[in-house]
Amino acid sequence: MKRSYFRPAIDAMQGYTPGEQPKMLNLVKLNTNENPYPPSPAVLGALETFDATQLRRYPDPMADALCEAIAARHGVARNQVLAGNGSDDILTMVFRAFTAPDRPVAVLDPSYSLYSVLAAMQEAPVKRIALDAEHDFALPDDLLEQAEGANLLIVTRPNAPTGNTFPLAAMRRIAAEFDGIVMFDEAYADFAEDNCMSLASEFDHVIVSRTSSKSLSLAGLRFGYAVAHPGLIDGLNKLKDSYNLDMITQTLALAAVRDENYLRATTAKVLASRTELTASLRQLGFRVVPSQANFLFAAPPDGDGEKLFHYLRERALIVRYFPGPVTGSYLRITVGTPEQNRRLLDALQSYCG
Ligand code: PMP
Repeated sequence: MKRSYFRPAIDAMQGYTPGEQPKMLNLVKLNTNENPYPPSPAVLGALETFDATQLRRYPDPMADALCEAIAARHGVARNQVLAGNGSDDILTMVFRAFTAPDRPVAVLDPSYSLYSVLAAMQEAPVKRIALDAEHDFALPDDLLEQAEGANLLIVTRPNAPTGNTFPLAAMRRIAAEFDGIVMFDEAYADFAEDNCMSLASEFDHVIVSRTSSKSLSLAGLRFGYAVAHPGLIDGLNKLKDSYNLDMITQTLALAAVRDENYLRATTAKVLASRTELTASLRQLGFRVVPSQANFLFAAPPDGDGEKLFHYLRERALIVRYFPGPVTGSYLRITVGTPEQNRRLLDALQSYCG
């Protein structure tokens, strides 16, 4: 090519790097916060009875049945719900709607790295609000001052990759005082003690997003959603891909959302493993951030996350490492089944011993 046909901003940006999906056998995969348990049996049932002849038609563009079920789950109105192809799709719509070169976005640091990729596509400035690494990645007291001037503020709660949460009272204060859209990215909220869902009905500038990828064991299906004031949902609908959820996704996700008992049972197992794994890692001398998610952010005694990442990888144990002056001391470890966690701890014992 004589010259690039891309917009300069696209040439200059780095794409998002997804966690690897290795093909190794006998792997313990603890790197992308997937659920270690299979989806509800109701999902498998819905797949078996799905009538493939229907696929000649387009799917319901508004995913109505699914959005009704989500609205019922959270006690909100149907017109407060927007369905996405994963919550990444929700994030894409939100960035398209609310960020631009003269409309910055404010995000936590460290947090979900997709945010800055989406901002780069929009050529929107990013205000990074550093969390306090000395105090388990707490929010800074002057968050609102730092975020001032941004048109969109994303609070990831529980946060990723750190796993901690922030006081609910502080979230309400942010919602009440921030002059711009406040989005609570609640991808991990089903594993947490509380959540910000009620703020989406209380304030007309608050968006809460959720995903089926973690607690509903459906990362491969791609379904996430936003709850917000009907006025915001109407606006976001204008920039949605018309058929963003295929027919199979709508059918299977509905089956999963309806099976609340299964969600509760698998979540309880993950939480029990989280407690155990936290205690075992601390016994080995790891610094573990108190987690409200389905993963732990843990620093080995020597503070060398990268070295330990490679040691584990050689033993077919895949976790996530984020280079950087703060994050580089840690590894992000998805909570697995008791057996997977045992294999991890055995390797860590040898490493530390
Ligand atoms: N938000 C956060 C904080 C995440 O960690 C993830 C998962 N990588 C997502 C959103 C996106 O999840 P999905 O697109 O699978 O719904």
